[in-house]
Amino acid sequence: MQDLTMQIAQIVPCTEAEGPGKRFAVWFQGCPLRCPGCCNPEFLPFKGGHTRTLRDLIDELTRARDESGVEGITLMGGEPTSHAAASLALAQASRQLGLSVMVFSGYTVEELNARGDATVAELIATTDILVDGPYIREQPDTERRWIGSRNQRIHFLTPRYSLDEQWRQKNTLEIRVDKDGISVNGFPAADAVGLWKGWRRKKPLPTVTTQSVEHAQGTDTR
Ligand code: SF4
Repeated sequence: MQDLTMQIAQIVPCTEAEGPGKRFAVWFQGCPLRCPGCCNPEFLPFKGGHTRTLRDLIDELTRARDESGVEGITLMGGEPTSHAAASLALAQASRQLGLSVMVFSGYTVEELNARGDATVAELIATTDILVDGPYIREQPDTERRWIGSRNQRIHFLTPRYSLDEQWRQKNTLEIRVDKDGISVNGFPAADAVGLWKGWRRKKPLPTVTTQSVEHAQGTDTR
């Protein structure tokens, strides 16, 4: 099992920009959706990224827990449910290490359940927080930290987390400079999306006021 391989676009071993507390963030390489304005267009093709083993990632995750005090893993994309076996293996390993599991999916939970895929169902059963639904550029969320657009819902699937004060703070953007260059993660202000990656909007963002679109508060939830 530990020889299981997975296609990884990016890992940030300790971040506060991808969910509650300090988290080990994993971006898979490959997503079948094409949300206009996606923050990570280079993570959409299924070819590319780095091939990593489950064993490697568990070692890295264990180090992040012991040395940086991360409290959980966050799986995103790419689309984690398109890498369901790897996502489930990482979620189970996290639980075994006493860490929480947060998953961002571009599909709604209803769409995921309708698939009838046992691995996806088990992944959901091993998840503490599921953020679901596609990113809709015209509905930027400025009130729920870590969330891209107002249509997306936060499902607290275990008692471990709730919609507490942390979620009400402003979105967080982290910029790292190391030997490999500059990396950025977290959700930026709408006008800054993609700027650091060298691509620019063909059209300016439409102006969306809080009055013009009803804020979808989410289930129980985000
Ligand atoms: S689901 Fe996420 S990764 Fe996939 S296109 Fe939409 S925003 Fe991008």
